[in-house]
Amino acid sequence: MKLFAKGAAALALFCAAHSANAQNYQKIHQKAILVDTHNDVLINVLEGLRLEDDLRGKTHSDLARFKKGGVDVQFFSVWSDETYGKGKGFAYANRQIDSLQAIAARNPDKMVMVGNYQELMDAVKQGKLAGLVGVEGGHMIEDSIPYLDSLYNRGARYLTLTWNNSTSWASSAKDETAGTVPNAKSGLNEHGKQIVRRMNELGMMVDISHVGDQTFWDVINTSTKPVIASHSSVHNFCSHFRNLKDDQIKAIAKNGGVVQLNFAADFLDCGVPERQQQFMAKYKTEIDSLKNRGWSNSRIRKWLVNKYPKEATAVQPPLSVLLDHIDYIVKLVGVDYVGLGSDFDGISMAPQQLDGVEDYPLITKGLLTRGYSQQDINKILGGNLLRVFQANSPR
Ligand SMILES: [Zn+2]
Repeated sequence: MKLFAKGAAALALFCAAHSANAQNYQKIHQKAILVDTHNDVLINVLEGLRLEDDLRGKTHSDLARFKKGGVDVQFFSVWSDETYGKGKGFAYANRQIDSLQAIAARNPDKMVMVGNYQELMDAVKQGKLAGLVGVEGGHMIEDSIPYLDSLYNRGARYLTLTWNNSTSWASSAKDETAGTVPNAKSGLNEHGKQIVRRMNELGMMVDISHVGDQTFWDVINTSTKPVIASHSSVHNFCSHFRNLKDDQIKAIAKNGGVVQLNFAADFLDCGVPERQQQFMAKYKTEIDSLKNRGWSNSRIRKWLVNKYPKEATAVQPPLSVLLDHIDYIVKLVGVDYVGLGSDFDGISMAPQQLDGVEDYPLITKGLLTRGYSQQDINKILGGNLLRVFQANSPR
């Protein structure tokens, strides 16, 4: 009986602490500096959407929702596919940077482009979204180190060495996995090593998301600065070619870098494609008739989600799966080497409850529930990335 009473008292205390935490999560979240290293909304901006507008239902992101979600620092992805090769990629990257700078220029009270740690912290103190550029795809420098310098001068603070396509100097994860590396030369060649060294000199973070294993290890052996994975998840949970294996995560930690987790449902949970296929097969007749009317795949998906919300939600992994990926890295290498690189607006499906950048506080709530301290949460939300950003700054 006495034991029971003791247990009940302990339980009551635990519940009280738990509910205090749950109530405090917004406070803790808004106080932390949240850095997201990967957002693809510029693709939508180039198609004519304006981030100052309410884009709910159309995108994962807009300026008001960044604020609501407590996002302080956003690396905007400048991306193109392999069709933007020589003579095209660099110009297209510049067009995207123009569009990002135009958003900041139109909204000086809400957002400012920053290039170094001091400017970033000033923006955070002023309550403005600090915008930075992350160039996703080494093909956009068209093999040219002067183009790399030029993108740095325009605000690029990381380069993802490859996208799914390999360059002449670095092989991608997709090509290495499929055995389609051009000329069968995997890894970084001498020019690739020069590019990494130049990035180290400039203070441009080397992003190893999307690169193949061989390129990864060549980067680890070449870079003199900590590296990032701007938007990758854990291979142990789902053996997708875009996810990082345990030895890679350990090497990033040893290098002082950070793994910024991608929210893509199918990276977090390998069961997603099969559930999605079953869901689509069930409504094939309706989907075919919408296709015949000329509807795009994304419009059809939104329509299905509205019409069959319960079934559509069941395709998505729960938010807890993202927290599992965080826990895994923390247990493997410690709390100093994990962060968040959502890939919002570059992914077709995120975990349940994460409908857009406005839902970031739910991650903090989940981490508190799992017993993470405020100090550790601050590291995961942005502190770890800021450490790497500073370590890359030119002295
Ligand atoms: Zn990507």
